Amino acid sequence: MFLGHYAVACTAEPAEPAISLGTLVLAAQWLDLVWPALLLLDIEHVRVVPGITAFTPLDFYDYPWSHSLLMALVWSALFAAVALGRRLKPRQAALLGFAVFSHWILDFVTHRPDLPLWPGESPRVGLGLWHSVPGTLAVEVTMFAVALAIYTRSTRAIDHTGSWSLWLLVATLAILYVGSIVGPPPMDTRTLAMASLALWLFVPWGYWIDRHRVARPTS
Ligand SMILES: [Zn+2]
Repeated sequence: MFLGHYAVACTAEPAEPAISLGTLVLAAQWLDLVWPALLLLDIEHVRVVPGITAFTPLDFYDYPWSHSLLMALVWSALFAAVALGRRLKPRQAALLGFAVFSHWILDFVTHRPDLPLWPGESPRVGLGLWHSVPGTLAVEVTMFAVALAIYTRSTRAIDHTGSWSLWLLVATLAILYVGSIVGPPPMDTRTLAMASLALWLFVPWGYWIDRHRVARPTS
């Protein structure tokens, strides 16, 4: 899943306005932020198999450290522990931990059964929403639209930057999303890994938006 992870970050923001949107993007996308680094280090592997799902030609045959159920739980616990170490409230640490784990749940819904439960010999799971392009679009676009409505209703821009930085993010995510559907498959996995590292940009982008928006008072 792609847009759905950003939807989680936007939806979680009003629950804990003290946590920056950037931190929530970091948490919700963490598994996909680690993944390209592990590909480049030759620790995890992916291959391009056109037609393997209707939505993506990527065959995620080896990614236990970023995307197994066990490691998703470990990453979630680490995030919560670091948050507590940085003196966030337990509720805030729990929210960040859950945001990390939400990534695995959403990937479980979208991926074909390629998600291992633990590193090593393990059953693989996935509900395979990606076998349907209309189904994937319906779920992800709805999630993202609802999340954006929640976010814009619970925060307001304090200057022009607070507005256009957000809408520029939405436009960029939309272009990347459409590009991933209609564009050609990646040339090779190294190029894919390098391009995927660009997902890190959305973390500082989230901090940037957050600095120019404040929570609306709840009535
Ligand atoms: Zn993922």
